Amino acid sequence: MEKINGNVSIEAQNIMPVIKKWLYSDKDIFIREVVSNGSDAITKLRMIDFSKAQNCSIHVEVDKDKRELRFIDDGIGMTAEEVKQNINQVAFSGAKAFLEEYSKTEGQEDAGIIGHFGLGFFSVFMVSDQVTIETLSYKEGSEPVCWESTDGMSFSMKDGTRTEHGTTIILHIAEAEDEFLDLWRVRQVLDRYCSFMRVPIYLKDCSKKEEEPKDQASEEAEEKAEEETKETPINDVQPLYAKAPQDCTDEEYKEFYKKTFHEYDDPLFWIHLNVDYPFKMKGILYFPKLHEQFGGIEGQIKLYSNQVFVADNIKEVIPEFLMLLKGVIDCADFPLNVSRSFLQNDGYVKRISNHITKKVADRLTGMFKTERENYEKFWPDIHPFIKYGIMRDEKFAERMKDYVLYKTTDNKMVTLQEYQDKNKEKLPEKVIYTTDPARQTAAIKMFTDNGMDVVVLDQVIDVNFISYMEYSAGEDKKIKFCRVDSELDSLVSKDEEANTVNYDKLSEIFKAAANNDTVNVELKPIADVDVPVMLVEEEQSRRFNDMNRYYGRDSFNMPTKCDIVLNSKNSIIEKISNMDTEDGKLIAKQLYDLAEMSRKPLENDRMAEFIKRSLSIVNMAMDNVKASSDVTIETESAEKNAEDQQENA
Ligand code: ADP
Repeated sequence: MEKINGNVSIEAQNIMPVIKKWLYSDKDIFIREVVSNGSDAITKLRMIDFSKAQNCSIHVEVDKDKRELRFIDDGIGMTAEEVKQNINQVAFSGAKAFLEEYSKTEGQEDAGIIGHFGLGFFSVFMVSDQVTIETLSYKEGSEPVCWESTDGMSFSMKDGTRTEHGTTIILHIAEAEDEFLDLWRVRQVLDRYCSFMRVPIYLKDCSKKEEEPKDQASEEAEEKAEEETKETPINDVQPLYAKAPQDCTDEEYKEFYKKTFHEYDDPLFWIHLNVDYPFKMKGILYFPKLHEQFGGIEGQIKLYSNQVFVADNIKEVIPEFLMLLKGVIDCADFPLNVSRSFLQNDGYVKRISNHITKKVADRLTGMFKTERENYEKFWPDIHPFIKYGIMRDEKFAERMKDYVLYKTTDNKMVTLQEYQDKNKEKLPEKVIYTTDPARQTAAIKMFTDNGMDVVVLDQVIDVNFISYMEYSAGEDKKIKFCRVDSELDSLVSKDEEANTVNYDKLSEIFKAAANNDTVNVELKPIADVDVPVMLVEEEQSRRFNDMNRYYGRDSFNMPTKCDIVLNSKNSIIEKISNMDTEDGKLIAKQLYDLAEMSRKPLENDRMAEFIKRSLSIVNMAMDNVKASSDVTIETESAEKNAEDQQENA
C-alpha cells in the first residue's frame, strides 16, 4: 500500500491531553485494554473458523534493550480498511461520556472515577512515545498493514511485515515509564486484570541477559524456569467460578480462594452463584475467617465481565455490607467501561445487587435450618457481617433478623425468639445483656440465679445493632435491650418482706458517700439479699456514651444518670441504717466504690482512696475480731476451770 499520514478522529485529539493528565493512578489498565482486544480478536476468529483458532494465544514480551513491550495475538487481525475504521475513526470508545464525566469531576477529589473508564486501545499512549501496530487479517488475500503513531493524534500507515493472521502491538515505552519494562511489574498487572481471560497468555522476558559468570547448576535452573514460564500460561482460562457448581469439589473451592486472594487460611464456607436468567452472572462468594475485631476486616469482591477484570469493590453492584466478604463476580453483560452515571442509574446493576443479597441470605438461613451446629460454629466469624448487613440493607434485614444468634453467659446460642420464649414470664419484651461478663459478674449472677438468661454483647458493632433492633421491631413485637446494671425491676422481689430501715437517714449517708447531693437514692427489695448497693445507669444515655467512646468522640458525652439503689433486704444496709451517721458514711463510701468497680475501674485518686479506706476497715475488723476472740478465750477458760473443778470433786 501507499504510505499515508493523517490524524485520528477529533475526539481523540481532545481527549489525549486529558488522559495523560488524569489517568496517572490507573495507568496499568492499558495492559488490560490491549490484552482484552487480543482476546476478543481470538474469540471472533473462533466463532468464524474454529479450526483456525484452536490453539490461539497471546504472547506478551518485555524487551528492556529495545525499550519495548509487545503484545502478540494470532486472532482475526485487521485489513487496512479495518485499521482506518477501527483505529483511526473510532479512536476511543465512550469518548463523549468520558469527557462529560471528566468535566463534572474536574477539580474534585474523586476524579478517581476516571479510572473506571476503559480507554480502549488509546490508553497505550499514557506510557508510550511510539506505538506500532503490525496486523494481518485472517481473510483470504489480505495484505499486512503497519500503523504507527507517536502521540495518538497523528499516524502513518504503510505495508506491514506480518506473515500469519493476527496483530502485534509494539509499545516503545516512554522515558518516565520504565516500570513497564520490568517483567514482574508487567506480571503483576496481568495477574490483576487478566488472570481469568479465556485465551492463554504467555509472558516472556526478551531482554538480553546480563553476562555474569554463572555456574552450570544455576544456569540450568534458570533455563528450566524460563522453559516453564514459556509453557505455562499465566492465566486460568477456565476459572472455577465459571464451572457448574456440581462439578466443583470442596478442595477446589478452597484452593481457588487461597490462590485468588493470597490467603493462607481456608474460608469458612462459600456460595456459588450461577444465574442465566434474567441476567447472566456467575461467581463465588467466600466467608473468610475473622482475624481481627470488626473494623479490621477487609473483604474484596472482584468484578469481572466475561472473565476480564473490571474493578474491585464496586459498591453499586455489590451491596456495601458484602464487601466484607471475598469473592469474584462475573457479569457477562457488564461493560468493561463503567461510568458512575451508568452504575447509579442502571436497573440491571440494581437487580444484580438485589440478587446477590438474596442468595447470601438464602444460604445463611438454609444453614441455620439444616446445619444449625455449623451455623453456631461460624457465628463468631460471621456475626459482624450479618449485623452490619441487617443495619445497612432493609431487604437483608427482613430475611436475616430472625436468624441472629445471641450467646448467653452459659455459652448457649439462642435466637431472639428462643430467648423470649424461655424468659417471657420474668422478662416480657426485655433482653438482658452484659458488655463485660468478667466485670459484671455480680450483676449477671442476680439474673441467672433468678432463672433469667443474660446474653453477651461485647463487640463494637453491638451497641449500634441493638439500637437498630429496638427501633425496627414492629409494634406487636416490642423489644428492649437492658444491660445488667440498667435494669432492676425484674430483680425486685415482690413476695418477701423488706427489713425495716430508715430511708431518710440512708439517703443522706449515701449522698454524702457519693459526694453528690442531687443523686437519686432508692430503696428496693432486690431478690439477691447479698448485694447491698447497686448503681443503676440509664440505658439510653450510657449506650449513647459507649457509642461516642467507640468513635473516639468523648467530648460529646451526655451526663450520665446513675441511681444508687440500696437493697432493703440486705443486712449491711439494715445495719448502716441503725448506725451512728459518721461511721455509716465510711462503710457507705466503701460500698459505693465496690458497686462502681463492678461497672468500670476506679480512677486514680479514687482507687488510692479506696485502698486506704479498705486497710482502715481491715484494721477495724481485726480489732473487733481480737476483742471478740478475747471474750471467747475468757469464757472458754472459765468453762474449762469449772469442768476441772467438777472432775476434781
Ligand atoms: P474497543 O475494544 O472498546 O472497541 P479499542 O480502542 O480498544 O476499543 O479498539 C478499537 C477496535 O480496534 C476494536 O473494536 C477492534 O475492532 C480493533 N482492534 C483492536 N485491537 C485489535 C486486535 N488485537 N486484533 C484485531 N482487532 C483489534
